[in-house]
Amino acid sequence: MRRFITWHDPIAQILHATDPTSVLRHDVYHLRPHPSRYVNGRLVLLGDAAHAMTPDLGQGACQALEDAATLQMLIESHADLATASARYDASRRPRASLIASRSRQLGRLGQLSGARATALRNRIMYATPARITNRQLDRTLIWHAPSP
Ligand SMILES: Cc1cc2nc3c(=O)[nH]c(=O)nc-3n(C[C@H](O)[C@H](O)[C@H](O)COP(=O)(O)OP(=O)(O)OC[C@H]3O[C@@H](n4cnc5c(N)ncnc54)[C@H](O)[C@@H]3O)c2cc1C
Repeated sequence: MRRFITWHDPIAQILHATDPTSVLRHDVYHLRPHPSRYVNGRLVLLGDAAHAMTPDLGQGACQALEDAATLQMLIESHADLATASARYDASRRPRASLIASRSRQLGRLGQLSGARATALRNRIMYATPARITNRQLDRTLIWHAPSP
């Protein structure tokens, strides 16, 4: 209420119509540092178990899906599990770690407080050309399955 009641219509009506007991509040956890390996013998980490990240880029489940697709493809194309899981670790860990760290940075930026810091952030965000933002986003959103 304190933060959003002065926002444009219909936000105030929505807030007034919301039953306070129906509001969920959960702490958000992320893994830091990430494991130095996703694989240990026959144990293979995927998804949040490997790289739970902050939700600021909306990529946690996306990365879990990429993990699963990569692992399936590598297991199908390699006769031995050791090679498949080593390839999985080499392929997934750098990308998932990079995206987790981008998400964390974006969260930190989004949650800045203080008039000066937020004004500077907002000015930089508005001034950043869309093609630069889109290029950054492409690096996150575009994914190609690794070669076996
Ligand atoms: C607020 C918020 C917003 C998000 N928004 C996005 C988004 O927009 N886009 C996106 O891609 N991601 C988003 N995510 C992240 C996404 O929800 C997670 O990254 C994703 O669910 C991870 O999938 P997972 O299968 O690894 O783990 P989980 O979804 O946590 O699944 C693990 C499962 O294992 C079960 N389990 C646990 N222990 C045991 C046990 N001992 N035995 C059997 N079962 C067990 C659990 O009950 C659970 O069902 C968001 C997360 C949060 C918190």
